[in-house]
Amino acid sequence: MERSTIVRVREGLHARPAARFVKLAKTFKSDIELAKGGKSASAKSSVKLMLLTVKEGDEVTLKVSGPDEDEAMGMLLAYLENPDAGLDGEASSAPARNNERQETFSQDNTPGQLPAHGYKGAAASAGVALGPVFAYFPPELAPPHQEIPPAGREAEKKRLRAAIAKVTAQMESSAAAEASATDAGILRALIELANDADIIASAEETIGSGLDAVSSMMAAGAAVAAKFEALDDAYMKARAEDLNAVTRQICLALLEREDADLADMPDGAILAANDIGAFDLARAPLDRIAGIVCGHGGATSHVAIIARGRGIPAVLGLGKDIEAFRSAQRAAVDGGSGLTFADPDAATESYFNERIAHQEEARKALSAFASERPVLANQQAVVIAANLGSLKDIPDALAVGAMGVGLFRTEIMFMAHPALPSEEEQYETYAGLAAAFAPDEVIVRTLDVGGDKPITGIDFPDEDNPFLGWRGIRMCLDRPAIFKPQLRALLRANQQGNLKVMLPMVSTLEELRRTRVLVEECEAELEREGRPFRRFALGVMIETPAAVMIAPELAAEAAFFSIGTNDLTQYVMAADRLNNSVAALNDVRNPAVMRAIDAAAKAGREASIPIGICGEAAADTRLVPSFLEMGIYEFSMSPSFILAAKKAVIDHIGK
Ligand code: PEP
Ligand code: MG
Repeated sequence: MERSTIVRVREGLHARPAARFVKLAKTFKSDIELAKGGKSASAKSSVKLMLLTVKEGDEVTLKVSGPDEDEAMGMLLAYLENPDAGLDGEASSAPARNNERQETFSQDNTPGQLPAHGYKGAAASAGVALGPVFAYFPPELAPPHQEIPPAGREAEKKRLRAAIAKVTAQMESSAAAEASATDAGILRALIELANDADIIASAEETIGSGLDAVSSMMAAGAAVAAKFEALDDAYMKARAEDLNAVTRQICLALLEREDADLADMPDGAILAANDIGAFDLARAPLDRIAGIVCGHGGATSHVAIIARGRGIPAVLGLGKDIEAFRSAQRAAVDGGSGLTFADPDAATESYFNERIAHQEEARKALSAFASERPVLANQQAVVIAANLGSLKDIPDALAVGAMGVGLFRTEIMFMAHPALPSEEEQYETYAGLAAAFAPDEVIVRTLDVGGDKPITGIDFPDEDNPFLGWRGIRMCLDRPAIFKPQLRALLRANQQGNLKVMLPMVSTLEELRRTRVLVEECEAELEREGRPFRRFALGVMIETPAAVMIAPELAAEAAFFSIGTNDLTQYVMAADRLNNSVAALNDVRNPAVMRAIDAAAKAGREASIPIGICGEAAADTRLVPSFLEMGIYEFSMSPSFILAAKKAVIDHIGK
């Protein structure tokens, strides 16, 4: 069967979304091809898929044939049409956001004059740094060009497979230990590259003709890297570097060698390298790196994404100029302008020192807000909480002083899971979350999926309008076998009493009441089983116009309101939140939306229940005064916005 669609995956099927698409495709037995503009590629090879350069907004055709074609077609189409697909729960750390955060650090009222000399590269991660150089220039690997006699060729192929397995295992354990969901996603994309069936087949074919495994692997990797380099797309060109890095690791494993140890890096070092891959960085002590300069790479390299996520200034793509850093003692990096200096003179050093002092001041000024817990003149506490999708995000949220969690998107756990997560797995996740923030409150949202988000283990019908379809609480109430384990896990996880639960997409009072009946059923079951649990406060999300209209009735029975401004805006304005052509209508500041928020807040105020906002608007500091005036005292957002939001509330209180 064939179906065409427009790709909505944000920024297209680049490395990480491609890797996850392939992973999903591989769960089906059917043959699956993706076609774009007359070219097509197997959906089970991330290399082929990336070479197809599928971008957001491209029209593609999915061709599926085999025993599970219906299910495969449904899931893969849903994936392609989901903007957040493949981002591993990193909704809170999308690169664009990180850029914004970085920009605030680079607005440091640059003192003095930028030195005129220096080397210019790609401005990959903003900020300034100065420090001792840690030169990381592992020697080029030369292909041994050894001839393998026919009798040894099968063993040589086995050696290659073992080396790939070793590198895969190393990357898997780095990904599992990785605190950042983005960085773990990058590693998973590299694992897909290392295990690409075509590259392995091509290397094995060369071994079969008598060449050693190292030379064969280098040739196979280089041939595909050259295809990436030939693409007219900066992002995809950068994938050639990923492939080279992965090929190198496999060859090192074959040679039983290791590159120099990045763990020897001194504190505050500027890491200088010709080429540095995500694989190297995963093993590097990132907290000791003050800056990065690199011969290869650009703003879209994985190194750049990791550096931005960690706030490490980086200048990449210096080309041959990187040689100047190989023997330099010290280096200065301006990741905002792309200028770098090897062994800077005294004037340049003092210029950088001044800028670093400014940068530190700005950072400190903002980080000072981490411990703040804003309180209004009438003693009303204002909660600035975090939106999270994974336990991996907890350290980032705690570091910026998140006052609890205002939205835990449980669908991310369901999406990442190969089947439905069991009650036990869910219990551990929710209990871990509640414990990490206690005594602050943690609000867990029950499963919010629908035809627009693929979940293995749930069959969604084909829908013309998935956003108006069988999603969120509607699906859960129809599938108690999915819903009840989640409710039971939540009851059990609320041992410390700081866990609250809210329902997405509520549009009738009945939905709240029916959920309560299910919760009571779960309580009775747990009671009978002798399992400890504690009742949780059950709230509703206000994200449909219907919920706004019946807000007084909902407020009479719900423990709290949390306004989901993302969906509320799209439904009030009748403007699809994923459709760029109506993006201008999708503005929470439109009076129609602000009035809807005000009406819901009024109902909440009159019933004396807490009202929060957990959509993107919560982080829009311009709206803080209006929301506070409406009696909304809880703002939940991606951790990267928390410090600025705390500052905005405190500035407002001071007025
Ligand atoms: C919302 O709709 O505002 C919301 C927070 O939920 P999501 O973005 O996950 O739909
Ligand atoms: Mg929503």
